[in-house]
Amino acid sequence: MVRVRGLRKSFGAHLVLDGIDLDVRQGEVTVLLGPSGSGKSTLLRSINHLERPDDGFVEVNGEIIGYRYRGGRLHEVRPHTITRQRARIGMVFQQFNLFPHMTVLENLVEAPVAVRGTSRKAAAARATDLLERVGLAGREGAYPRTLSGGQQQRVAIARALAMDPDLLLFDEPTSALDPELVGEVLAVIKDLAESGMTMIVVTHEIGFAREVADTVVFLDGGRIVESGPPADVLSRPGNERARAFLAAVL
Ligand code: ADP
Ligand code: MG
Repeated sequence: MVRVRGLRKSFGAHLVLDGIDLDVRQGEVTVLLGPSGSGKSTLLRSINHLERPDDGFVEVNGEIIGYRYRGGRLHEVRPHTITRQRARIGMVFQQFNLFPHMTVLENLVEAPVAVRGTSRKAAAARATDLLERVGLAGREGAYPRTLSGGQQQRVAIARALAMDPDLLLFDEPTSALDPELVGEVLAVIKDLAESGMTMIVVTHEIGFAREVADTVVFLDGGRIVESGPPADVLSRPGNERARAFLAAVL
């Protein structure tokens, strides 16, 4: 479902992604690990076309949504392809990013109505189902500030699901949470994984990676230095930096 090839990205003189190749098959969960500054968020943002690669390309569902270097020329993909593809990719951030002035229901209904043209009534019915799925039945009228961080993040996940994404990207979804709220959010993500959702999850939760990931990818200095089944990558990493990182977070 996702094919990344030769992806490079610099900010000024700082090379942040140094030739990334990554494949994610439909229904699989890829966990992205790596030290702070290794390029994890930039990679996720590139897959969602929030960053413009300098070289290489990102393909989702067989459709290029990056920029492709071909025959010595950089080909820019038409903007409507980007917009259409982005509507198929959900993203969940560390800081929830809910609309604070909207109720939970309005947060979930907004995009399907504005982007998809779904009727408000159908979007509201779907939102109610999704809230139940993330364990927040009956909270339609609540404002985000009245909810705990774990509840807000579960609303953010429901909001992403409201667009029926083909792919979900999570960028450290539990890093901003108090420790006692981490489990409820990971449980929702695990439930989604079991339902067959294709996901890329940046997290430092190694237990979650071990249990849920099909593939663990370790990024260091903008390069993938380890990749494989969790049992291999987490138990006996060949790479020195990956070993040091795991020793620090475990
Ligand atoms: P990670 O998510 O692994 O912590 P990031 O992808 O956020 O890493 O960042 C990788 C590097 O790129 C960091 O050194 C960061 O400071 C830099 N960086 C990220 N975004 C920008 C930006 N918009 N402008 C300049 N530098 C950036
Ligand atoms: Mg990051």
